[in-house]
Amino acid sequence: MPASASANIGVVGLAVMGSNLARNLASREGNTVAVFNRSPERTRTLTSEHPEAGFVASEGYDDFVASLAKPRTAIIMVQAGKGTDAVISELVARFEPGDIIVDGGNANFHDTIRREGEIAPTGIHFVGTGISGGEEGALNGPSIMPGGSAESYETLGPILASIAAIAEGEPCVTHVGTDGAGHFVKMVHNGIEYADMQLIAEAYDLIRQGTGKSPAEIADIFAEWNTGELESYLIEITAEVLRQTDASTGRPLVDVILDEAGAKGTGAWTVQNALDLGVPTSGIAEAVFARSLSSKRAQREAASDLPGPAQAWTVADGDADAFIEDVRLALYASKIIAYSQGFDEIIAGAEQYGWDVKKGDIAKIWRAGCIIRARFLNRIADAYADDPALVALVVAPYFRDAVAGAQEAWRRVVAIAAQSGIPTPAFSSSLAYYDGLRAQRLPAALIQGQRDFFGAHTYKRIDKEGVFHTLWSGDHSEIETTPSSH
Ligand code: NAP
Repeated sequence: MPASASANIGVVGLAVMGSNLARNLASREGNTVAVFNRSPERTRTLTSEHPEAGFVASEGYDDFVASLAKPRTAIIMVQAGKGTDAVISELVARFEPGDIIVDGGNANFHDTIRREGEIAPTGIHFVGTGISGGEEGALNGPSIMPGGSAESYETLGPILASIAAIAEGEPCVTHVGTDGAGHFVKMVHNGIEYADMQLIAEAYDLIRQGTGKSPAEIADIFAEWNTGELESYLIEITAEVLRQTDASTGRPLVDVILDEAGAKGTGAWTVQNALDLGVPTSGIAEAVFARSLSSKRAQREAASDLPGPAQAWTVADGDADAFIEDVRLALYASKIIAYSQGFDEIIAGAEQYGWDVKKGDIAKIWRAGCIIRARFLNRIADAYADDPALVALVVAPYFRDAVAGAQEAWRRVVAIAAQSGIPTPAFSSSLAYYDGLRAQRLPAALIQGQRDFFGAHTYKRIDKEGVFHTLWSGDHSEIETTPSSH
């Protein structure tokens, strides 16, 4: 039983993420960490396996809360949803005004906004916090995206900074914005992660089908790419996965893994919210849909004898290196689009929910600790530092040049993929988005005409102010009107 309020921070929920986060906290100078888990076995296991951590362990909420120094600060790392609500109500019943409850799980930001609104009248701070980096990150330094009040960040900030990953000397944590901002930004991080993974998978597939290279040979290509502008954690681990041989069959592991991709839902949330906000995040959406398609086993089997291109395609002898370079450039350009779209969603979310999100700071806290850590995040931070009101990442000078340099290769890759029947939904949709964005005229004009025809939805003209409607069922003359509510 805890003797006194000796811990400056507590962790509730000691499964893999909570245990590792608690160990990380305990390893930092000045922290005394209180721990509690609903089932006491987990608490006992953690404390007996890690006596060096000096945990202050409790087996009930009363003791746990009593073990925390004021202002009490507790990080919840439990199953998102009902588990989080259950723990919050136990803590709220015992905490006092000024105390801080941090939800470090993968909460839906709408829940975080709701919880913050419910808890705020008690005077207790509720801080929804995105934590990325998986179990390894939780132990050694994650990227941390806290929301909540600026006041709570004064207490919490230094604690979180002590455990965060370090990128170029800076801790990967920043106060993202109020209430649900942290979980929103973490959600978009995960959406970008989906897109990045899908793009890498498409690059692998193209090279394998186009050149016939083995997974181990393609691992070398990814390792080489990881020394250049594509340098990132996901490229690095891709090389490792492709190099792995299955012990039981001797085959490349990637060839014995069932090709049905799982998902835990944050990618879908990113797309659902993008739709609500009216932000085209097509690269992320295609990545989420590609996982869904992969898991439709019955449909895939039923469709497996549908015809593909008449002629099989492989890269001609001697052209493999050029093709691989094209794929690298297509990957880089598509990746820029995915990030550009992701930041568009962050900007739209910040506007919608009233968050003062610093885009450059977000890019910086993703440089280490998290799954999408990558060299080029520095370029994103630079772009927003140069122009905080940047209208789209892809038009910033560095990215404009990068895409301009890649676009011919990108087109060749998407064209050959289409001709040869290799599915590249993320490459293709990113290119289509790019072409849509840069188009002088879009066929949206025709859509407005159609809408006006069947629903009198009206249209604007390019040559004069006002709102217009053509009398389609009458004499086809045009009238000026007020906007339709249809
Ligand atoms: P988890 O499997 O998601 O959840 C298990 C933990 O939740 C256990 O400690 C369990 O307690 C507790 N729990 C569930 N319902 C509860 C309730 N009603 N009351 C009290 N405790 C309850 O654990 P995890 O994998 O360590 O993940 C923790 C959180 O981090 C989740 O929100 C998850 O989504 C998030 N996560 C993040 C990352 C990342 O990279 N950021 C990775 C993985 C997970 P018992 O032991 O008593 O069952």
